[in-house]
Amino acid sequence: MTASQRLLSVRHLIKQLLLPKYVRTYYEGRTENVTFRENEDILDLNIHGEILKFPYVWLRDNCQCAECFHPTAKSRVVDWAKFNLDSKPKDVIKDENSLQVTWDDGHESRYKINWLKLRSFTDKHRKNYNDTIFKPTKKTWHGNNFQKILSKHEFSGIINDDKQLFKWIHDLSVYGVALIKNTPNKETALDSVVQKIGFPKKTHYGTNFIVQNVPNTSNVAYLNSNLQIHVDLPYYEYCPGVNMLHCLVQTSSRGGENLLSDGHYTAEYIKTYHPEQFKLLTDIDVEWSDIGTEQGNEFFKLHRAPVICLDKHGQIERINFSIPQRGSHFLGPIEVVKPWYKAHSLFFKLNMDFAAKFKTDAGDILVFDNIRLLHGRNQYEDKPNNVRKLIGAYVDWDEIYSRLRCLQLKYNHNDELV
Ligand SMILES: [Zn+2]
Repeated sequence: MTASQRLLSVRHLIKQLLLPKYVRTYYEGRTENVTFRENEDILDLNIHGEILKFPYVWLRDNCQCAECFHPTAKSRVVDWAKFNLDSKPKDVIKDENSLQVTWDDGHESRYKINWLKLRSFTDKHRKNYNDTIFKPTKKTWHGNNFQKILSKHEFSGIINDDKQLFKWIHDLSVYGVALIKNTPNKETALDSVVQKIGFPKKTHYGTNFIVQNVPNTSNVAYLNSNLQIHVDLPYYEYCPGVNMLHCLVQTSSRGGENLLSDGHYTAEYIKTYHPEQFKLLTDIDVEWSDIGTEQGNEFFKLHRAPVICLDKHGQIERINFSIPQRGSHFLGPIEVVKPWYKAHSLFFKLNMDFAAKFKTDAGDILVFDNIRLLHGRNQYEDKPNNVRKLIGAYVDWDEIYSRLRCLQLKYNHNDELV
């Protein structure tokens, strides 16, 4: 304990004697103080007039001393077999930047005030943390506004400048789509972008896949006919989060335009204007399937989930939609078959109505959220000297959000985040 802390302690002791016995309040300065009550389980921290509440059990669990929290592993190492759920503070000292708690078993904990603030239990602080660090808030869009929300990023910027990398990933997470321009005309260029994030997601179509017209194909995406609006790989329980398509050669013929629709926008629209259909699309499981052989490897993938998957808060977690990859085993009651088909048709039609239509150029990498957006492509014709060719790869959201947070940490210089 430093001399100034000792002095504060003496001041606190005097103040304590003047207060009712069950309330002990520690003052520091005119506006900042900390209060804890012996009969309760929560400590009140007054930070510039804002009262933040911290349960004792949470404070004890999150002690930041090296005995309880490993500083380099950034992980809790407290021995839970010895953990006392009823620990209470015996003494509390607060100064400008930190809070020191001495527990009734003599253990001492120290917390930075900013660290506590970031973990505050108030709705405002929680929302701030959820929206910025956890996952940026998504903004939904109608295809009419596509040109406004579509951000364009330079390939060289993403490779060489982490601030531009951050901006690209951030835009991708908010709008579900962000375009990369001026990518070198090399089949390996996409790998460099993937490496800036982390790891590619390998599927039975390989780590990278080439999209061009292949008769007798293993997948209808490898044809030049209309590719109906869909998400990729809904038959994976661990569905790849983001789809990246590098356009090496675009067709000079009519057609070949991409269609992109924000499945969250459509789902919210259906929820508002067609609640019965929304219920069918969120309740009835569909069996998504992919069966075949690719490069000598057999596969038989099945996954069961509704078209619109909601989390326990009612927020959209994932969109599944693919006419070719929807299996023929209907999983709901027989009487909802026709109503479900009507709801499915409505979802399809609205996504087509709301879709943006545009054509990528050679050198573009179209990057989009594969569990949120639906994508498709209009029919086109190859010519001997103009064979449309794309290279694709997938990356998981776990890796993308992880990179986003690492970059945020790098630029915020905010040690209290972890
Ligand atoms: Zn500790």
